[in-house]
Amino acid sequence: MQFRDLKKQYEVLKNDIDAGISEVLASAKFISGPQVKELEQKLAEYVGVKHCITCANGTDAITLAMMTWGVKEGDAVFVPDFTFFSSGECPAFEGATPIYVDVDQRTFNLDAVKLEEAILKVKTEGKYTPKAVVAVDLFGLPADYKAIKPVCEKYGLLLMEDAAQGFGGSIDGKMACSFGDISTTSFFPAKPLGCYGDGGAIFTDNDEWAEYLRSICVHGKSANDKYNNVRIGMNSRLDTLQAAVLLPKLKAFADYELDDVNKAASWYDEALKDTCLTLPLIPEGFRSSWAQYTVQLPEGVVRSDLQAALKAEDIPTMVYYPKPMHLQGAFEGTDSSDADCPVTECLCKTVLSLPMHPYLRKEDVGTVAEMLKKYLAK
Ligand SMILES: *Cc1c(COP(=O)(O)O)cnc(C)c1O
Repeated sequence: MQFRDLKKQYEVLKNDIDAGISEVLASAKFISGPQVKELEQKLAEYVGVKHCITCANGTDAITLAMMTWGVKEGDAVFVPDFTFFSSGECPAFEGATPIYVDVDQRTFNLDAVKLEEAILKVKTEGKYTPKAVVAVDLFGLPADYKAIKPVCEKYGLLLMEDAAQGFGGSIDGKMACSFGDISTTSFFPAKPLGCYGDGGAIFTDNDEWAEYLRSICVHGKSANDKYNNVRIGMNSRLDTLQAAVLLPKLKAFADYELDDVNKAASWYDEALKDTCLTLPLIPEGFRSSWAQYTVQLPEGVVRSDLQAALKAEDIPTMVYYPKPMHLQGAFEGTDSSDADCPVTECLCKTVLSLPMHPYLRKEDVGTVAEMLKKYLAK
């Protein structure tokens, strides 16, 4: 069994993807070909945001957002403690201090009450200037923006949505990548919408920021003269080949993959509901794009033993994430390591992600559930 079956997806979409790739090869427009613009328009339309700027990967997308806002040394950027490294790496890369905030035990996402506490603590201490919040749509579920946005507004903080895992999710029909003042995503192959290498995108309704972003992802070029570089930027573009791969993939994602992956989640929910596992919670009105289906193990289950037993049955599992952000080696001895995040510390010990993708069959889910139950009964 595959954890995320990209080979099966390619089999299904092969004709369209191969044709798209061939077209790019024949045109030789490898950089900034017309497919890139077409993709940006389709992504912006799908998400319901005015501007989409593609770039080289989801990490650059966050860094470019931080650059646009002038995030710098002396700034505090609030980041969930339970996330992939980039969410905190990029603010730190710009010299800011990530302040790690605990998450909600059932949704895995940023806890808005603890966010406000952390902001007040930073303000009281006075060492850093609260600047922005990076909220993460972990495992495909949008963060609780109805609670987070008012906190950002109350303290005048910019809100960035890290939707690297969240593309396709929604709250009351409003799509992920539209919740931040700037939102970002990743097209890393295993993400909900993945390409065949690295890729990323940035979304915003703000015209000025969009123009600035288009400049800094191409060496700080001026809007009308590309050989006049008006600021220091980066070289961060999405390859035309990746855009050509993403066009048919976006169509399949919107047509059926997002529905199918939600079906797979409901099969897991049903098959595992009477076990000692804590299942992922999708609050009322929310929809996940299921980057991961992550359960929590009860006390007493040795996770590595369970993983080994499942592996022996050809069932791959993953641990996202084994280490809180504030305990990452890179932050050792910095103020970022000073965080009180008991929920994250507990999750890091108990979470387990199961095989999950739109091409998962009901019988595969049945097999995973059966093997899990058999092990847990011991
Ligand atoms: C994958 C990921 C990123 C980084 O995306 P890349 O395209 O791999 O650079 C950032 N944030 C989160 C939450 C991610 O899962």
